[in-house]
Amino acid sequence: MPAAKKPAKRSSASADTTKPITPPKTYKPTDPKRVQEILKRLNARYGGATCALTHRNAWELLDATILSAQCTDVRVNMVTPELFALYPTPESLAQQQPEAIEPIIKSTGFFRNKAKSIVGAAKAVTEQFGGKVPQTMAELLTVPGAARKTANVVLGTWFGIAEGVVVDTHVHRISRRLELTHANDAKSIEQDLMQVIPKSRWIDFSHQVIHHGRQLCVARKPKCVECPLETICHAADKTYSSVPIHKTATP
Ligand code: SF4
Repeated sequence: MPAAKKPAKRSSASADTTKPITPPKTYKPTDPKRVQEILKRLNARYGGATCALTHRNAWELLDATILSAQCTDVRVNMVTPELFALYPTPESLAQQQPEAIEPIIKSTGFFRNKAKSIVGAAKAVTEQFGGKVPQTMAELLTVPGAARKTANVVLGTWFGIAEGVVVDTHVHRISRRLELTHANDAKSIEQDLMQVIPKSRWIDFSHQVIHHGRQLCVARKPKCVECPLETICHAADKTYSSVPIHKTATP
């Protein structure tokens, strides 16, 4: 890690977060006090953060989340108004052939697979769950196109049920930078986060970290000077640091 540059000026966003909370010798990244401090600072900056996918009900959120794989929420929000207008219910979508859906969702990428998934999901919700999106992880995982991340989004955002932690690309990267996990696959990262984050914060944590990943803790050249977590973050690829860097804290 080359010597980090000194910033010309710190932003006001980090003005009240200037003190490291744990002396280096006793440093344990998952210490509950440090985790609480991370949660507190995230909450202060991203309080009220929620899912950016436009939806009016659980079914629309399930659809939109399936479409969001390898795609931005902004792009998904551009195609879902037409999709939901033409096929407003699982029943109406279940009667379609995937080929009929493909032109509508094409710009979200992987559109053939996604068309199959959302029509398959519509059939499953219609035939196995009486037209209602199920509210348990076990049931949601039987729906085509819905893996744990999708299930966690729907359960947390729509139903307010914390069965796990959403691990998308932002949560993956930032949890590793913050040393809340050293795992490198979504399943293990989620298990680690469920150990260190209080359950009452599982839903908010994901929303807030996703916002953090879009605004400041971006994949390349994170905006550390402006970051409220700067004094308690030892990430190896920080662009500015007032605390020691940890080589193993890689994104
Ligand atoms: S200090 Fe930098 S690397 Fe650490 S959380 Fe903030 S933006 Fe990300």
